[in-house]
Amino acid sequence: MNSKLILVINCGSSSLKFALYSIDHQLLAEGLAESLNSVNAKLHIKLLNTEIKSTLDTKDHQHAIDLLIIELQKTFDLKLELVGIGHRVVHGGESFKQSVIITQEVISEIKNCIPLAPLHNPANLLGINILATLFPKLNQVAVFDTSFHQTMPEHAYTYAIPYKFYKDDGVRRYGFHGTSHRFVTLQASKLLNKQVDTLNLVTAHLGNGASVAAIANGASVDTSMGMTPLEGLVMGTRSGDIDPGLFDYLISKGLSPEDISRTLNKESGLLGISGISNDMRTLCEQAAQGHKLSQLAIDIFCFRLAKYIAAMMVSLTHIDALVFTGGIGENSPLVREKTTDHLLILGFTLDKDLNSLNCSNKVINDADSKNIIVIPTDEELMIVNDTLELIPGTF
Ligand code: AMP
Repeated sequence: MNSKLILVINCGSSSLKFALYSIDHQLLAEGLAESLNSVNAKLHIKLLNTEIKSTLDTKDHQHAIDLLIIELQKTFDLKLELVGIGHRVVHGGESFKQSVIITQEVISEIKNCIPLAPLHNPANLLGINILATLFPKLNQVAVFDTSFHQTMPEHAYTYAIPYKFYKDDGVRRYGFHGTSHRFVTLQASKLLNKQVDTLNLVTAHLGNGASVAAIANGASVDTSMGMTPLEGLVMGTRSGDIDPGLFDYLISKGLSPEDISRTLNKESGLLGISGISNDMRTLCEQAAQGHKLSQLAIDIFCFRLAKYIAAMMVSLTHIDALVFTGGIGENSPLVREKTTDHLLILGFTLDKDLNSLNCSNKVINDADSKNIIVIPTDEELMIVNDTLELIPGTF
């Protein structure tokens, strides 16, 4: 039976994630390629209808995509059924305020944003080029991590450093995880039965990367990540905010700029404090068994998060809900509880029974509190929706 399909591609520097959806939003296949450009490169594919999982040896992005298309072609008639491809693109700078159909001009603009995301944008472009060669007639859409935050006002996005760095080099706060913050904003609008353009939220995307956003009338007006994803919250391996004076100090201790970058991006955050893991599940287990530095990592994570939620509130005139999402936000009652314990002064209190393991798409606050909701994010679905909206033809 013929159906119409959308392929979602997220090309990283050494990885590739994909998802194949029908245009009525059924997830049909998903998977990832990892350790690309190394001898350990593998492609994992899961077909949802048959529960078949396969793992193949691969090499680089080109080879992984070629293999993926061959494998999918065994079950789907891609040449006939595929109607569009949606790509996650990390940095759209100030050029992209929403998702767009990919043209030569769009490709040039994504290239212009490479200095802002030197690891990510080239990989995203590689994915776009490979698929454009394989399916030259097909519309491809770019969905940017940054575009949802382009509605931030100047006072929220400008750093207090000489203004010429903004004018000449685009140094400003851009924010990331926009696709997730946008998805949960739309879901919250449905759950709370309130028009999205009247909706005020603080959204907390807490995964291995983490950020909060202030949403006023459905639009992002502030967020915790900045020019790069390093700013803001404590994350799996990223430090989040630190004293910029630390750079001078670490340089005086003999660290190179590369050492400092690696330390702050890959060796800090939950991993750096606990010394054992960047995975919140492991830390919760270890803390319960008395591992003091795991407990400290969780405490710092929740305290910083609460501080940032409070900081987001100054951009709003009222709040309809605080939203938790991402792997940690959706699945950790402990993190939600510890964070909310700091927010009593702002009128948030949890109902400890409702704040259970299975509270997806539910309100979890007690009766006297402002709304607190848990909403599973789905960035791939958001990319499917944007792709469907932009490609010509009605489906
Ligand atoms: P993500 O990047 O959204 O996939 O989220 C990954 C993070 O979610 C990791 O730190 C996981 O440890 C965390 N996570 C997933 N499930 C749970 C859980 N049940 N309890 C605590 N953390 C969880």
